[in-house]
Amino acid sequence: MKLICVGRNYNDHIQELNNTRPDAPVIFIKPDSALAQPTQPFFIPDFSKDIHYEVEILVRINRIGKYIQPEFAHKYYDEIGLGIDFTARDLQKELKSKGLPWEKAKGFDGSARIGKWFSKKDFVDINDIRFRLEKNNQVVQESTTAHMIWSVDALISHISEFFTLKIGDVIFTGTPAGVGPVDAGDFLEGFIEGQQAFGVKIK
Ligand code: ZN
Repeated sequence: MKLICVGRNYNDHIQELNNTRPDAPVIFIKPDSALAQPTQPFFIPDFSKDIHYEVEILVRINRIGKYIQPEFAHKYYDEIGLGIDFTARDLQKELKSKGLPWEKAKGFDGSARIGKWFSKKDFVDINDIRFRLEKNNQVVQESTTAHMIWSVDALISHISEFFTLKIGDVIFTGTPAGVGPVDAGDFLEGFIEGQQAFGVKIK
């Protein structure tokens, strides 16, 4: 299975990193080795002094698809989740400045955290799901999928033009504003429509 991630999908986050709004979704892939077990802590790797959390709405693909039209995209998933795209921001900045791929900064072991899955039917409107991330019981990121530049269905359509979607693939749909660093001892907790999706200790 692959983890397909979307960058720059919320205007407020594009502004906080001084990035420009892209003409098409920014896509990158994390390998399956990036996935941590749900109960495992996140271990800060030696190669970074600036690991950031990015909370993101997740979609799990349930059918094989290629060239999926936006109007049929909803047939390719029936579960929604919440996760963290852990990012070595210092390494990412360095690679970006050299015009090199971000892969090491985004796809390292443990960099993908996936919480509990919820049935799509639990949500009134996929295009208005509220979610938040708390760090040590303080809200640090809070948004709704209504603020996405590209909706879940638009992303599935776009991604499937380049990558065949397979059963079990997970899409990380991008992060809103409020990204920030983690330190050993921190506790991250994610909520989707008020329900706890994950809790992660930082070590
Ligand atoms: Zn991200």
